[in-house]
Amino acid sequence: MEYEAVIGLEVHAQLSTRSKIFCACSASFGSPPNENTCPVCTGMPGVLPVLNRRVVEFAVRTALATSCTVQKRSVFARKNYFYPDLPKAYQISQYELPLALAGHIDIELNGGTKRIGITRIHMEEDAGKLVHEGEFAGAQASLADLNRCSVPLMEIVSEPDIRTPEEAGAYLRRLRDILVYLEVCDGNMEEGSFRCDANVSVRPKGQEKFGTKAELKNMNSFRNVEKALEYEIRRQIERIEDGGKVVQETRLWDAAAAVTVSMRGKEEAHDYRYFPDPDLLPLMVEEAWVEELRKTIPELPGEKVARFVKAYGIPRYDAWLLASSRSLADFFEASAAVYGANPKVTANECIHWKDAVAAGRLTPETIAHAVEDRESGAISATVSKTLVELAIETGKPIRRIRDEKGLTQVSDTGALEEIAAKVLAANPKEVESYRNGKAGLLSFFVGQVMKETRGKANPRIVQEVLKKKLGV
Ligand code: ADP
Ligand code: MG
Ligand code: ZN
Repeated sequence: MEYEAVIGLEVHAQLSTRSKIFCACSASFGSPPNENTCPVCTGMPGVLPVLNRRVVEFAVRTALATSCTVQKRSVFARKNYFYPDLPKAYQISQYELPLALAGHIDIELNGGTKRIGITRIHMEEDAGKLVHEGEFAGAQASLADLNRCSVPLMEIVSEPDIRTPEEAGAYLRRLRDILVYLEVCDGNMEEGSFRCDANVSVRPKGQEKFGTKAELKNMNSFRNVEKALEYEIRRQIERIEDGGKVVQETRLWDAAAAVTVSMRGKEEAHDYRYFPDPDLLPLMVEEAWVEELRKTIPELPGEKVARFVKAYGIPRYDAWLLASSRSLADFFEASAAVYGANPKVTANECIHWKDAVAAGRLTPETIAHAVEDRESGAISATVSKTLVELAIETGKPIRRIRDEKGLTQVSDTGALEEIAAKVLAANPKEVESYRNGKAGLLSFFVGQVMKETRGKANPRIVQEVLKKKLGV
């Protein structure tokens, strides 16, 4: 029997606003424990939350970028549960009436595109964090750090449209790229600003009805999401083949052991007793504001790729590598504006030096001039690489370095003829072998001439000169 997996993803993205969602505390990462707290985010009695307009703005922009419909009216609800890092004993979230519904993201895989539906996008607050450290009364002590309480999150829930771990990876990468392009989330999975829970079930191929799903948690990289899904799909199929049943449960990915382990079953699932938060009015989003925000949506990765392929004639794959970072894509366009005769080579250079570009250590002129000088034959590929490295190191314009170091390529036939003659005179045995038919020795002579000129000779001209002198 052949099986097919059904996957739906729930992403929690931390919004990069300066302050928290319901108070003015800093939402920044890495402050000393409990420094970014106030009576509101620590849940003192009698305080009132005030919604951060920026948070709504970021979520609306995300909704627009993923073709969701922004709801005129949405409602914040209390999700009730007790945990020591949640002093209010409830989390404010959106439940029955979320901010946005029914969007989609197009992913690209094996040359084709596939549309993945987005069920909903809503806003909520994060909880604090427990640090298990030291001892208290002879037992393990746990300390509460409430800095993360009320840091703004956006939850993006996908439809169960994903069929393979690769599709899940492609969806997550695309979604992350969109959020980073919008500058609403830094997309850092390791630091937890982009987290994913993966729901997965299997069914016999051809069957319409979904199987029972398991929810996977605790994956902190795209690769881990893919690996956890691969493992879980195999586990569920084996379970069914063995005559068993998949049970609905939450499972944790153990990256070290590369397995998923059961955390809690359906019976232990929480009943959160959601109800509208009486401290917060329903959120009304005006259409005029939405239209204003629509104008701030930048060109998104998919659109950029399509334009790059069309406008610059570069391969789709290269366009994707460039578009994976908005700043790299901008850098490429700036370089191609300085020298536009061969965008494909310019694109390759930008991709090759992308770390230096990201670190702000290269200017578009450097890449443009390197490509232009190579194309004109003024410098060789080897020298071009050396010059870019020197430009990264010194920050000087590449052509100034070239001239200061005298690194222009020797294309002057007269000068090269002299060096070639010297090389041939110094290697009489090889010249004889060559004339007796060992044609491969030509590259040896070319190498010698290149060495004499410290890599500055134009190899094509060197070859011509040598062939003429060797008379074959
Ligand atoms: P729950 O109430 O358990 O949270 P939801 O209906 O809210 O379930 O769905 C949560 C996520 O699980 C969504 O991303 C959805 O697409 C996905 N999902 C729902 N049913 C299945 C299934 N049978 N197999 C795989 N994923 C599913
Ligand atoms: Mg759910
Ligand atoms: Zn606060």
